Amino acid sequence: MRVLLAASEATPFAKTGGLADVASGLSKALAAIGHEVTLVLPHYRQVIKPGLIGELVGKVTIPVGEKRVEAEIRSTTLPGSTVRVLLIDQPDYFDRAGLYVEKGHDYTDNAERFIFFSRAVLEAARQLDLQPDVIHANDWQTGIIPAMLASEYRLQPWFQKTASVFTIHNMAFQGRYPWWEYKLSGLRWELFNWRQLEFYGELNLLKAGIAMSEIVTTVSPTYAREICRPEFGYGLDPALQTRGDALIGILNGVDTTEWNSAIDPALPLRYTVDTVREGKAACKAALQREMGLPVKPEAMVLGLVSRLTDQKGLGLIASRAADMFRADVQFVCLGSGEARYETWLQELKTQFPNKVGATIGFNEGLAHRIEAGSDAFLMPSQFEPCGLNQMYSLAYGTPPIVSNVGGLADSVVDCSPESIGNGTGNGFKFSQFTADAFLNCVWRAVGVFQHDKAAWNRLIRNGMTRDWSWARSAAEYVKVYNNARSRVK
Ligand code: ADP
Repeated sequence: MRVLLAASEATPFAKTGGLADVASGLSKALAAIGHEVTLVLPHYRQVIKPGLIGELVGKVTIPVGEKRVEAEIRSTTLPGSTVRVLLIDQPDYFDRAGLYVEKGHDYTDNAERFIFFSRAVLEAARQLDLQPDVIHANDWQTGIIPAMLASEYRLQPWFQKTASVFTIHNMAFQGRYPWWEYKLSGLRWELFNWRQLEFYGELNLLKAGIAMSEIVTTVSPTYAREICRPEFGYGLDPALQTRGDALIGILNGVDTTEWNSAIDPALPLRYTVDTVREGKAACKAALQREMGLPVKPEAMVLGLVSRLTDQKGLGLIASRAADMFRADVQFVCLGSGEARYETWLQELKTQFPNKVGATIGFNEGLAHRIEAGSDAFLMPSQFEPCGLNQMYSLAYGTPPIVSNVGGLADSVVDCSPESIGNGTGNGFKFSQFTADAFLNCVWRAVGVFQHDKAAWNRLIRNGMTRDWSWARSAAEYVKVYNNARSRVK
């Protein structure tokens, strides 16, 4: 099958979050089972790295409202795979300090940038004669592609049989803009109605993808059910409900070339499930040193790598951190985000210098070392479409402590005598999103860590031996692609 995957970020080209890992992990896994995959990305300033520079393969002129915008198409390969990567090079839009945001503010022309990019994806496919069987768009940045395909491009011979699949990675980011931005798309006004692209008088790019694609997927089965309810749907729950069986949840995988404790170059000692005891002990001691903490094997290290936002449960952690420190625990945190949480972390570190190690910023290597060197990983999210970090921590033998939502619910099996006995238990979950429920869950984990090493080791083993690979998810995406193709008349 020929699959064209359009995304606004992909590892290692440019990344702000999980979407980047999914775009490259899925592309590689699809290519590995014989599909012809082309990944299309914006040529941001950040993609200009040694070994990733693309060669010029074409030029396109894209109508954007009244303007005609020229761009170059560069071609390269996703490292470690046969996936072709096309980079849409338009410096006015993409040669900037950030991907979507600079100094805390969204770029004011984000609608224009990504409507341009969406049309450029389709024009590049036509010009390079790619004839994709499926175009797989992701999140609001490429949400208008299914609308452009269904209402315009499918009338052309290149795209007559092309189906679209749209994946939602986070309902909280919808790409909502004033109605007049719709004119930039060049689409017919008939589509600007409440069932398709319009949302309370505004243009909603996520809704465009939801309404106009053959199949909508999201990144875990539980999140697929949750977003049909008002608490998680951010106003689009009715639009999602109407999709019925065309809304499908597929849990993301782990890119085992990037996240594999047996070969991870960021770790001081690599390990497998058979050498996890020595491996983690070495990684833990090194992490304690790196974060300026006392090197104490008996202290339980709780790790966190996250955007510092309410979504990720930072409020719960902040309100109960001092209580957590009554036990012999250390807290190791890497993240950036809301200023109030960055300030809180700095203050916490000053207040508890022997308990807290915190780095504000984005640091791939340290993220790996925290996953490996922590004893348990904190992820008490308010909502979590899939979540990658809990899967990385499971694969690295670091039981996660999570809220029972979205992909966390689908990947973490709560520790209990029964789940330890039947070989499924791999972490700790709490159901009520309250600070007390979170703290109780931490206490349960501390209790098992300190008093039942046999059970703790079972948790580690169960997490490390389950198949988290993209191969499993990719097989499900192939079924979805075939399903989508069967819906194109
Ligand atoms: P989300 O996409 O909602 O931010 P995920 O858990 O799905 O959350 O994915 C987050 C990804 O970003 C993971 O690969 C994680 O390791 C990485 N990440 C988040 N914050 C940082 C950071 N400060 N430094 C390095 N990597 C980070």
